[in-house]
Amino acid sequence: MRELVGKTAFVTGGAGGIGLALGRAFARAGMKVMLADIEADALQAAVKGLREISPDVSGIICDVADAASVERAAQAAFDAFGKVHVVCNNAGVAAGGGIDHISLDNWRWVIDVNLMGVVHGIKSFLPHIRAHGEGGHIVNTASMAGMQTGLGFSPYGASKFAVVSMSEGLSHQLKPHGIGVSVLCPSYVRTRIGESGRNRQERYGPTQPLDPASPAAALVADLARNIDAGLEPDAVAARVLAAIRQDDLYIFTHPESRAEVEPRFAAILAA
Ligand code: NAD
Repeated sequence: MRELVGKTAFVTGGAGGIGLALGRAFARAGMKVMLADIEADALQAAVKGLREISPDVSGIICDVADAASVERAAQAAFDAFGKVHVVCNNAGVAAGGGIDHISLDNWRWVIDVNLMGVVHGIKSFLPHIRAHGEGGHIVNTASMAGMQTGLGFSPYGASKFAVVSMSEGLSHQLKPHGIGVSVLCPSYVRTRIGESGRNRQERYGPTQPLDPASPAAALVADLARNIDAGLEPDAVAARVLAAIRQDDLYIFTHPESRAEVEPRFAAILAA
């Protein structure tokens, strides 16, 4: 989708962080925007802020873990816009701490929001985008935690690997229909979740002591450097807009990429 002016966008997790930055970037690009979020007060503040850029910004309360709630929000977007072109399945939560710290309830919560939330968004919007025939773009927010291991027994990593895999498959399926799919894979971004990830690392550290001379230790040091080089959410949103215009599948926001990281993991696993 090269031309975004006059098009419409629906963004989950839009009340803060990366989602709000996406809404801001879309509004600045001349698009109509609907932000969806579970946090009512933050959502209201976000919509108020973006209306200073454009009057065509609205908000809807939505729990992405609940299929019916996403269906209702999608219907509200169809009613408001007529046609929805860009859908960002971006809402996410994090719970960490390894096998001894994460309860089954936390596992289900993270999977329900981070993975099923994306599934619900796709199921609710895709038939509509196919039917209106003007093309569209779906952006699913994963993480570098969906590209590289290292988070241990983590629902966050598991959910994000699943989002990457699903997005890759969907991209191939939808390309012939003029619908693009991107998967956003950031490392540390300066948001609430970003800060919690940093703190978790500080709290738990690596799960096993590493030989400082090992390739694994070098990789962990590289990842730590990336964590220190946190990005502002607006910079991430700018990358997403470029990816929509160029129809890129992968959106990497930090220097490391899957192509760089995977051979290093393969070497570590083979050693
Ligand atoms: P954030 O906490 O600022 O934003 C997440 C938003 O999702 C919040 O507004 C929250 O209210 C909303 N949300 C949570 N549960 C929801 C639910 N059930 N239904 C609807 N909305 C819900 O954090 P962020 O960094 O902006 O996170 C956005 C996405 O980026 C997430 O999917 C996250 O996993 C991913 N991500 C973030 C980083 C980072 O470093 N910040 C790195 C990689 C990936």
